[in-house]
Amino acid sequence: MRAEVKALSLCWLSETDLTNLNSGEGGSNLVDIKKYRWRGREFPYVSGQAMRFYLKEAIRREVGSEEACVANEQGETCGRIEKCVLCDLFGFMTTLPDRGAIVRVSPVKVSPAMGMIPLDEAMVLDFLTRRHRGQEQVEAGELRGDIVNVELSVNLYKAGLCVDIQRVGREESPVEIDRIEGIKRRRRRDREVAEAKVIQSIQLEDLTDESERDRRVALLLNAVKDFSDYSKQARLLTDFTPDFILIALQSNYSHRLQKALEVNWERTVRLQIERLSQILTEVAEDCIRLAGRPAIFAGMLNDLLENEKEVRKLLESRSIPILTPRAAVEEAKKALEID
Ligand SMILES: [Zn+2]
Repeated sequence: MRAEVKALSLCWLSETDLTNLNSGEGGSNLVDIKKYRWRGREFPYVSGQAMRFYLKEAIRREVGSEEACVANEQGETCGRIEKCVLCDLFGFMTTLPDRGAIVRVSPVKVSPAMGMIPLDEAMVLDFLTRRHRGQEQVEAGELRGDIVNVELSVNLYKAGLCVDIQRVGREESPVEIDRIEGIKRRRRRDREVAEAKVIQSIQLEDLTDESERDRRVALLLNAVKDFSDYSKQARLLTDFTPDFILIALQSNYSHRLQKALEVNWERTVRLQIERLSQILTEVAEDCIRLAGRPAIFAGMLNDLLENEKEVRKLLESRSIPILTPRAAVEEAKKALEID
Protein backbone atom coordinates (compact mmCIF):
# COMPACT_ATOMS: atom_id res chain seq x y z
CA MET A 1 0.00 0.00 0.00
CA ARG A 2 1.18 3.47 -0.76
CA ALA A 3 2.12 4.91 2.63
CA GLU A 4 0.62 8.34 2.03
CA VAL A 5 -2.93 7.07 1.37
CA LYS A 6 -5.14 7.54 4.41
CA ALA A 7 -8.58 7.28 2.86
CA LEU A 8 -10.10 5.64 -0.15
CA SER A 9 -13.37 7.27 -1.26
CA LEU A 10 -15.83 5.87 -3.77
CA CYS A 11 -19.18 7.15 -4.91
CA TRP A 12 -21.30 5.74 -7.67
CA LEU A 13 -24.58 5.57 -9.54
CA SER A 14 -26.29 2.33 -10.39
CA GLU A 15 -29.32 1.84 -12.59
CA THR A 16 -31.60 -1.08 -11.87
CA ASP A 17 -34.34 -2.85 -13.80
CA LEU A 18 -37.52 -3.78 -11.94
CA THR A 19 -36.46 -4.89 -8.50
CA ASN A 20 -37.05 -4.83 -4.76
CA LEU A 21 -33.60 -4.81 -3.20
CA ASN A 22 -34.41 -4.05 0.40
CA SER A 23 -37.92 -4.53 1.76
CA GLY A 24 -39.49 -2.36 4.44
CA GLU A 25 -41.80 -3.43 7.25
CA GLY A 26 -44.61 -4.49 4.94
CA GLY A 27 -47.30 -6.87 6.13
CA SER A 28 -48.02 -10.53 5.61
CA ASN A 29 -49.28 -10.01 2.06
CA LEU A 30 -47.17 -7.04 1.03
CA VAL A 31 -43.46 -6.95 0.27
CA ASP A 32 -42.89 -3.21 0.11
CA ILE A 33 -39.84 -1.14 -0.81
CA LYS A 34 -38.05 0.99 1.80
CA LYS A 35 -38.89 4.60 1.03
CA TYR A 36 -37.83 8.10 1.96
CA ARG A 37 -39.79 11.28 1.29
CA TRP A 38 -38.27 14.38 -0.20
CA ARG A 39 -40.12 17.46 -1.39
CA GLY A 40 -43.42 15.67 -1.02
CA ARG A 41 -42.51 12.69 -3.19
CA GLU A 42 -41.44 9.17 -2.34
CA PHE A 43 -38.22 7.53 -3.46
CA PRO A 44 -36.78 4.07 -2.77
CA TYR A 45 -33.63 3.48 -0.76
CA VAL A 46 -31.47 0.58 0.31
CA SER A 47 -30.21 0.87 3.88
CA GLY A 48 -26.52 1.18 4.72
CA GLN A 49 -26.90 -2.04 6.70
CA ALA A 50 -28.12 -3.87 3.59
CA MET A 51 -25.29 -2.40 1.51
CA ARG A 52 -22.77 -3.62 4.09
CA PHE A 53 -24.39 -7.06 4.01
CA TYR A 54 -24.03 -7.26 0.21
CA LEU A 55 -20.36 -6.30 0.39
CA LYS A 56 -19.67 -8.76 3.20
CA GLU A 57 -21.33 -11.59 1.31
CA ALA A 58 -19.30 -10.75 -1.81
CA ILE A 59 -16.10 -10.99 0.28
CA ARG A 60 -17.30 -14.21 1.93
CA ARG A 61 -17.48 -15.81 -1.52
CA GLU A 62 -13.77 -15.08 -2.03
CA VAL A 63 -12.19 -16.12 1.28
CA GLY A 64 -11.93 -19.29 3.36
CA SER A 65 -14.61 -19.96 5.98
CA GLU A 66 -12.09 -19.40 8.81
CA GLU A 67 -11.55 -15.85 7.55
CA ALA A 68 -15.24 -14.83 7.54
CA CYS A 69 -17.34 -15.62 10.59
CA VAL A 70 -21.13 -15.45 10.88
CA ALA A 71 -22.92 -13.77 13.77
CA ASN A 72 -24.32 -15.98 16.54
CA GLU A 73 -27.89 -15.83 17.90
CA GLN A 74 -27.07 -12.66 19.84
CA GLY A 75 -25.81 -11.03 16.66
CA GLU A 76 -22.22 -11.17 17.91
CA THR A 77 -19.35 -11.90 15.55
CA CYS A 78 -15.94 -13.40 16.38
CA GLY A 79 -13.95 -10.20 16.93
CA ARG A 80 -10.70 -11.80 15.73
CA ILE A 81 -9.27 -8.87 13.77
CA GLU A 82 -6.08 -10.81 13.01
CA LYS A 83 -7.90 -13.69 11.32
CA CYS A 84 -11.37 -12.51 10.32
CA VAL A 85 -11.50 -10.26 7.26
CA LEU A 86 -15.14 -9.30 7.93
CA CYS A 87 -14.64 -8.38 11.60
CA ASP A 88 -11.60 -6.31 10.63
CA LEU A 89 -13.24 -4.40 7.77
CA PHE A 90 -16.77 -4.04 9.11
CA GLY A 91 -16.22 -3.76 12.87
CA PHE A 92 -18.23 -5.47 15.60
CA MET A 93 -19.73 -5.36 19.05
CA THR A 94 -19.04 -8.57 20.87
CA THR A 95 -18.06 -10.07 24.22
CA LEU A 96 -14.88 -12.07 24.59
CA PRO A 97 -14.29 -14.36 27.59
CA ASP A 98 -11.02 -12.71 28.63
CA ARG A 99 -11.79 -9.10 27.66
CA GLY A 100 -15.51 -8.56 28.28
CA ALA A 101 -17.50 -6.36 25.91
CA ILE A 102 -15.48 -4.93 23.04
CA VAL A 103 -16.40 -2.69 20.15
CA ARG A 104 -14.59 -2.08 16.90
CA VAL A 105 -15.61 0.89 14.81
CA SER A 106 -15.84 -0.17 11.19
CA PRO A 107 -12.95 1.19 9.07
CA VAL A 108 -15.34 0.82 6.09
CA LYS A 109 -18.12 3.43 6.10
CA VAL A 110 -20.98 2.74 3.74
CA SER A 111 -23.83 5.02 2.69
CA PRO A 112 -27.40 3.96 2.06
CA ALA A 113 -28.20 3.78 -1.66
CA MET A 114 -30.67 6.57 -2.42
CA GLY A 115 -33.10 6.16 -5.30
CA MET A 116 -33.19 9.28 -7.50
CA ILE A 117 -36.38 8.64 -9.53
CA PRO A 118 -39.71 9.29 -7.75
CA LEU A 119 -41.69 6.13 -7.10
CA ASP A 120 -44.91 7.58 -8.49
CA GLU A 121 -43.16 7.45 -11.88
CA ALA A 122 -41.29 4.20 -11.50
CA MET A 123 -43.11 1.67 -9.34
CA VAL A 124 -45.38 -1.25 -10.08
CA LEU A 125 -47.12 -3.74 -7.85
CA ASP A 126 -46.42 -7.32 -8.85
CA PHE A 127 -48.91 -9.98 -7.79
CA LEU A 128 -47.32 -13.26 -7.08
CA THR A 129 -49.03 -16.37 -5.84
CA ARG A 130 -47.64 -18.62 -3.17
CA ARG A 131 -49.10 -21.90 -4.32
CA HIS A 132 -49.71 -24.79 -2.00
CA ARG A 133 -49.70 -28.28 -3.39
CA GLY A 134 -51.33 -29.93 -0.41
CA GLN A 135 -52.95 -33.35 -0.67
CA GLU A 136 -56.43 -31.83 -0.42
CA GLN A 137 -55.98 -29.57 -3.44
CA VAL A 138 -54.37 -32.28 -5.51
CA GLU A 139 -57.36 -34.51 -4.84
CA ALA A 140 -59.75 -31.72 -5.70
CA GLY A 141 -57.80 -31.14 -8.92
CA GLU A 142 -56.94 -27.48 -8.15
CA LEU A 143 -54.10 -25.42 -6.82
CA ARG A 144 -54.74 -22.84 -4.14
CA GLY A 145 -52.44 -20.02 -3.11
CA ASP A 146 -52.08 -16.72 -1.26
CA ILE A 147 -51.75 -13.57 -3.26
CA VAL A 148 -48.67 -11.57 -2.28
CA ASN A 149 -48.08 -8.06 -3.55
CA VAL A 150 -44.48 -7.14 -4.25
CA GLU A 151 -43.54 -3.53 -4.91
CA LEU A 152 -41.00 -3.28 -7.69
CA SER A 153 -39.22 -0.25 -9.07
CA VAL A 154 -36.95 0.71 -11.90
CA ASN A 155 -34.56 3.28 -10.50
CA LEU A 156 -31.19 4.98 -10.42
CA TYR A 157 -29.41 4.80 -7.08
CA LYS A 158 -26.57 6.84 -5.64
CA ALA A 159 -24.29 5.14 -3.12
CA GLY A 160 -20.78 5.32 -1.76
CA LEU A 161 -18.21 4.22 0.72
CA CYS A 162 -15.07 5.47 2.40
CA VAL A 163 -12.28 3.35 3.87
CA ASP A 164 -10.22 4.59 6.80
CA ILE A 165 -7.12 2.89 5.40
CA GLN A 166 -4.96 3.48 8.47
CA ARG A 167 -7.31 1.38 10.59
CA VAL A 168 -7.50 -1.70 8.39
CA GLY A 169 -5.69 -4.56 10.15
CA ARG A 170 -4.91 -2.27 13.05
CA GLU A 171 -6.41 -1.43 16.39
CA GLU A 172 -6.12 1.56 18.68
CA SER A 173 -4.19 0.96 21.86
CA PRO A 174 -3.43 3.42 24.69
CA VAL A 175 0.10 4.80 24.95
CA GLU A 176 1.69 6.93 27.67
CA ILE A 177 2.97 10.13 26.10
CA ASP A 178 4.00 12.02 29.23
CA ARG A 179 4.13 11.83 32.98
CA ILE A 180 4.00 14.74 35.38
CA GLU A 181 5.69 13.75 38.61
CA GLY A 182 4.41 14.58 42.06
CA ILE A 183 1.38 16.60 41.16
CA LYS A 184 -1.26 14.64 43.02
CA ARG A 185 -0.81 13.73 46.67
CA ARG A 186 -2.46 10.77 48.17
CA ARG A 187 -2.26 9.18 51.61
CA ARG A 188 -1.00 5.67 51.44
CA ARG A 189 -0.83 3.88 54.82
CA ASP A 190 0.62 6.56 57.17
CA ARG A 191 2.57 8.51 54.61
CA GLU A 192 1.58 11.04 52.06
CA VAL A 193 3.02 10.12 48.66
CA ALA A 194 3.28 12.07 45.48
CA GLU A 195 1.64 10.36 42.56
CA ALA A 196 2.52 10.94 38.97
CA LYS A 197 -0.13 12.11 36.56
CA VAL A 198 0.04 9.93 33.48
CA ILE A 199 -0.91 11.49 30.18
CA GLN A 200 -2.18 9.07 27.59
CA SER A 201 -2.88 9.13 23.93
CA ILE A 202 -3.70 6.39 21.47
CA GLN A 203 -1.63 4.72 18.81
CA LEU A 204 -2.43 2.23 16.11
CA GLU A 205 -1.09 -1.23 16.65
CA ASP A 206 -0.55 -3.59 13.70
CA LEU A 207 -2.57 -6.80 14.03
CA THR A 208 -1.75 -8.08 10.56
CA ASP A 209 1.22 -7.61 8.27
CA GLU A 210 1.28 -5.19 5.37
CA SER A 211 0.53 -7.76 2.66
CA GLU A 212 -2.59 -8.91 4.52
CA ARG A 213 -3.81 -5.31 4.87
CA ASP A 214 -3.31 -4.89 1.12
CA ARG A 215 -5.21 -8.09 0.42
CA ARG A 216 -8.16 -6.99 2.56
CA VAL A 217 -8.49 -3.62 0.85
CA ALA A 218 -8.29 -5.39 -2.52
CA LEU A 219 -11.03 -7.83 -1.43
CA LEU A 220 -13.26 -4.89 -0.55
CA LEU A 221 -12.64 -3.19 -3.90
CA ASN A 222 -13.35 -6.45 -5.71
CA ALA A 223 -16.58 -6.72 -3.73
CA VAL A 224 -17.68 -3.32 -5.09
CA LYS A 225 -17.29 -4.77 -8.60
CA ASP A 226 -19.20 -7.96 -7.82
CA PHE A 227 -21.65 -7.60 -4.95
CA SER A 228 -24.86 -9.45 -5.66
CA ASP A 229 -26.52 -10.96 -2.59
CA TYR A 230 -29.61 -8.74 -2.57
CA SER A 231 -32.94 -10.06 -1.42
CA LYS A 232 -35.46 -11.79 -3.69
CA GLN A 233 -33.02 -12.48 -6.49
CA ALA A 234 -34.53 -15.84 -7.38
CA ARG A 235 -37.20 -13.89 -9.25
CA LEU A 236 -35.50 -10.57 -9.94
CA LEU A 237 -31.86 -11.13 -11.04
CA THR A 238 -30.65 -7.57 -10.56
CA ASP A 239 -27.26 -6.04 -11.20
CA PHE A 240 -26.75 -3.30 -8.62
CA THR A 241 -23.01 -2.71 -9.13
CA PRO A 242 -21.71 0.73 -10.21
CA ASP A 243 -22.50 2.10 -13.69
CA PHE A 244 -20.78 5.42 -13.04
CA ILE A 245 -18.10 5.60 -10.37
CA LEU A 246 -15.59 8.06 -8.98
CA ILE A 247 -12.68 6.82 -6.88
CA ALA A 248 -10.29 9.08 -4.95
CA LEU A 249 -7.06 8.14 -3.16
CA GLN A 250 -6.75 10.68 -0.38
CA SER A 251 -3.91 11.71 1.88
CA ASN A 252 -6.38 12.81 4.53
CA TYR A 253 -9.66 11.37 5.69
CA SER A 254 -12.86 13.04 4.46
CA HIS A 255 -16.26 12.11 3.07
CA ARG A 256 -16.39 15.07 0.70
CA LEU A 257 -16.51 12.99 -2.50
CA GLN A 258 -19.98 11.73 -1.50
CA LYS A 259 -21.46 15.07 -2.62
CA ALA A 260 -20.05 14.85 -6.17
CA LEU A 261 -22.94 13.05 -7.87
CA GLU A 262 -26.16 15.07 -7.77
CA VAL A 263 -28.76 14.00 -10.26
CA ASN A 264 -31.66 15.88 -11.81
CA TRP A 265 -34.59 13.76 -12.95
CA GLU A 266 -36.81 15.17 -15.63
CA ARG A 267 -37.73 12.03 -17.53
CA THR A 268 -34.01 11.67 -18.18
CA VAL A 269 -31.08 11.58 -15.80
CA ARG A 270 -28.73 14.54 -15.84
CA LEU A 271 -25.71 14.89 -13.62
CA GLN A 272 -25.24 18.36 -12.14
CA ILE A 273 -22.07 19.54 -13.85
CA GLU A 274 -21.39 22.58 -11.64
CA ARG A 275 -21.64 20.48 -8.51
CA LEU A 276 -19.37 17.77 -9.92
CA SER A 277 -16.82 20.41 -10.88
CA GLN A 278 -16.87 22.06 -7.44
CA ILE A 279 -16.51 18.81 -5.51
CA LEU A 280 -13.70 17.58 -7.79
CA THR A 281 -11.83 20.81 -7.06
CA GLU A 282 -12.31 20.37 -3.33
CA VAL A 283 -11.45 16.66 -3.28
CA ALA A 284 -8.35 17.25 -5.44
CA GLU A 285 -6.80 19.08 -2.47
CA ASP A 286 -7.15 15.90 -0.39
CA CYS A 287 -5.78 13.54 -3.02
CA ILE A 288 -2.32 12.08 -3.38
CA ARG A 289 -0.70 12.94 -6.70
CA LEU A 290 0.04 10.54 -9.51
CA ALA A 291 2.21 11.78 -12.36
CA GLY A 292 1.47 15.36 -11.35
CA ARG A 293 -2.32 15.02 -11.16
CA PRO A 294 -4.70 14.28 -8.26
CA ALA A 295 -5.42 10.55 -7.89
CA ILE A 296 -9.05 10.45 -9.00
CA PHE A 297 -10.44 7.80 -11.37
CA ALA A 298 -13.74 7.67 -13.20
CA GLY A 299 -15.57 4.70 -14.65
CA MET A 300 -18.68 5.07 -16.75
CA LEU A 301 -21.05 3.11 -18.93
CA ASN A 302 -22.47 4.83 -21.98
CA ASP A 303 -26.10 5.98 -22.20
CA LEU A 304 -26.61 6.23 -18.46
CA LEU A 305 -26.54 10.02 -18.29
CA GLU A 306 -28.35 12.35 -20.66
CA ASN A 307 -25.48 14.85 -20.46
CA GLU A 308 -22.74 12.24 -20.80
CA LYS A 309 -20.76 14.42 -23.25
CA GLU A 310 -20.56 17.29 -20.79
CA VAL A 311 -19.51 14.93 -18.01
CA ARG A 312 -16.75 13.45 -20.18
CA LYS A 313 -15.55 16.91 -21.16
CA LEU A 314 -15.33 18.03 -17.55
CA LEU A 315 -13.45 14.91 -16.42
CA GLU A 316 -11.07 15.13 -19.40
CA SER A 317 -10.39 18.81 -18.68
CA ARG A 318 -9.15 17.69 -15.26
CA SER A 319 -7.03 14.84 -16.64
CA ILE A 320 -9.20 12.28 -14.86
CA PRO A 321 -9.01 9.00 -16.78
CA ILE A 322 -12.43 7.73 -17.90
CA LEU A 323 -12.62 3.95 -18.00
CA THR A 324 -15.39 1.43 -17.51
CA PRO A 325 -16.45 1.07 -13.85
CA ARG A 326 -14.55 -2.17 -13.31
CA ALA A 327 -11.42 -0.89 -15.05
CA ALA A 328 -11.53 2.22 -12.82
CA VAL A 329 -11.50 -0.03 -9.73
CA GLU A 330 -8.55 -1.96 -11.18
CA GLU A 331 -6.64 1.29 -11.87
CA ALA A 332 -7.28 2.41 -8.28
CA LYS A 333 -5.84 -0.91 -7.04
CA LYS A 334 -2.75 -0.37 -9.19
CA ALA A 335 -2.34 3.16 -7.87
CA LEU A 336 -2.67 1.87 -4.31
CA GLU A 337 -0.03 -0.77 -5.17
CA ILE A 338 -2.26 -3.58 -3.95
CA ASP A 339 -3.15 -5.32 -7.21
ZN1 LIG B 1 -15.41 -12.40 12.60
